[in-house]
Amino acid sequence: MSIKLYNVKNRTKEAFKPIDERNVRMYVCGPTVYDRAHIGNARPVVVFDILYRLLRHTYGINSVSYARNFTDVDDKINIKAISTGKSIREITNETINWYIEDMTALGALEPDYAPRATEYISEMIEMSSELIKKGHAYVAEGHVLFDVSSYEAYGELSGRSIDDMIAGARVEVAPYKRNPMDFVLWKPSNNDQPGWESPWGFGRPGWHIECSAMARALFGEKFDIHGGGLDLQFPHHENEIAQSCACCGQDSFANVWLHNEMLQVEGKKMSKSLGNFFSVKELLDKGFSGEVVRFVYLSTHYSKPMDWTVKKAEEAELTLRKWRKLTNGVQVTKHISKGVIDALNDDLNTSKALTVLHGLAKSGNIEELKSSAQILGLLSDQMGAWVKENTFDLSKLEEIILASRDKAMKTKEFTELDNLKNLFISAGLDVQMSKDGIKLIKGPKFNSSLLEDFL
Ligand SMILES: [Zn+2]
Repeated sequence: MSIKLYNVKNRTKEAFKPIDERNVRMYVCGPTVYDRAHIGNARPVVVFDILYRLLRHTYGINSVSYARNFTDVDDKINIKAISTGKSIREITNETINWYIEDMTALGALEPDYAPRATEYISEMIEMSSELIKKGHAYVAEGHVLFDVSSYEAYGELSGRSIDDMIAGARVEVAPYKRNPMDFVLWKPSNNDQPGWESPWGFGRPGWHIECSAMARALFGEKFDIHGGGLDLQFPHHENEIAQSCACCGQDSFANVWLHNEMLQVEGKKMSKSLGNFFSVKELLDKGFSGEVVRFVYLSTHYSKPMDWTVKKAEEAELTLRKWRKLTNGVQVTKHISKGVIDALNDDLNTSKALTVLHGLAKSGNIEELKSSAQILGLLSDQMGAWVKENTFDLSKLEEIILASRDKAMKTKEFTELDNLKNLFISAGLDVQMSKDGIKLIKGPKFNSSLLEDFL
């Protein structure tokens, strides 16, 4: 069975056929780097990480290229620079490092390409020039604008008419625009704003052109998959398509378009005013492990709104704890359950894949459980530290060994106490005995699985 994906462009679930099986190309819109990623930003990262893993599994690790950009030129970054007194470069570098750190904590593989917009300015100028030459863009007051009326298929991806789009979007009305829907490819910068020399004067690119220019630079004029959050479908993706297809031909750009639905918190839309708006880092700092967060994300199909709740996280934690206990010490093999692959092949049905894993755990098929969990980015060694480190409570073990010592002192029979002490030491605990009591301290090689019989 081949991979089937819901292609937004054709409004249908279809068999995925790469242009070149030895060079499968996927582009996903990445973050604008001025602040920590919030938990909604992380959803597409996990969703497309699963697709990346599935493509690598299907076509081979060396046959898949995944690009995710960093938007490091944007007015939000300029505002942050002014408010913090830091340079733009400091802010973007710091935020990019945070982003990579937080997404790695969620078990996301790093893409093959992570282009920064500022490294592709000349490609953006080149594409804008081509669009002007072909009559799809015009220059007005130092701006270059895409002429939406010149591109007939505008609105097809999101299925909107131009009138709907004008009504639905906060369209920036500007005297230099021929049509309110026309969007900026290039705009002038003053001396306080980041800028580059161009045929239209000192300025900077608009947001949309960067993805068209970078995708072309990395993947050529036609590639396989373009992904992102549903919030990007219009206007961002609509504009990317208009730019690329107007420039390189109607049949160019991405064959398959995927959008993940948005994320809510405890049944409510995330918003700063409701106080339910938090970053991935804040969630990790609250003690939710990256693996638990990832599991919660995977429990909802990407095409449905996902509700983050503490209850779900607690359930995920229990499940993962159980699975990790079951599979502790089990070797990973290349064998992945057919049920898991079939579920993922069916438009990335991750919740069904988790159900299959539950079944494997129940039937005691632990090798298959551990090996199959890897394609979902779960039960890997790198993701497992949380189970031992964060949550294992030693106070009960301290009571047990103290009672054993009291008994030994009375009976003068020390074998049981010695055995207990040796077991604790072999589990990586430092056993500190004193007149006042016994203290257990977790050492670097602490392994709770040897102690679970006491709980
Ligand atoms: Zn984009």
